[in-house]
Amino acid sequence: MGEARALSKAEAVRLGPPDWKQACHALLYAPCPGRLFGKIPLRFAVLMQMRFDGHLGFPGGFVDPGDICLEEGLNRELHEELGPGAASLHVAESDYLSSHASEKPQRVVAHFYAKQLSLEELRTLEDRATQAKDHGFEVMGLIRVPLYTLRDGVGGLPAFLSNTFIGNAREQLIHALDILQLVPGEQLQKAVTVAQKRP
Ligand code: AMP
Ligand code: MN
Repeated sequence: MGEARALSKAEAVRLGPPDWKQACHALLYAPCPGRLFGKIPLRFAVLMQMRFDGHLGFPGGFVDPGDICLEEGLNRELHEELGPGAASLHVAESDYLSSHASEKPQRVVAHFYAKQLSLEELRTLEDRATQAKDHGFEVMGLIRVPLYTLRDGVGGLPAFLSNTFIGNAREQLIHALDILQLVPGEQLQKAVTVAQKRP
């Protein structure tokens, strides 16, 4: 996968067709008070998905030239990929986090958003995700990201970060966990370092 360059949204939307495609993806999360094995705090439920190509990514996709704005394209993709549980979900301009441009394997500008839901809303999404138009096709299943690190120092977030991710989804995830304070900074840094050292 090619290098991704961070750029402002204004700069990013100037990279238009036919040379560049625009894509939008969203991280949906909810505070989650539960504890794994009755001990380890889960802190938040963060949604990602197993994609058709075997990589992990966020729900979302390419914005059509017919979409009025980026957010309209994003919400259309979210409804296709998440199904009827997302009927009242609306990701807005104010949920915007970042934009990255990459040239390989194709010229894509990836815009990234994050939105906090209630745990009940997030569970409704999960419950109804198998009814989505794209379920079993573009989306093989929704998953939650383990945010903790187990006593062996690898299990949980470090092992999760060792998976393969589409585009710059891994960097988008790490950045969001950091700035939304979903994982304490020091623990996140350690998880990234451990993941880099794994074969
Ligand atoms: P999609 O239609 O969901 O496959 O998204 C279109 C393109 O956006 C993908 O082929 C990826 O190259 C790129 N992309 C960038 N960031 C992500 C992400 N976080 N999740 C999924 N795709 C991404
Ligand atoms: Mn998609």
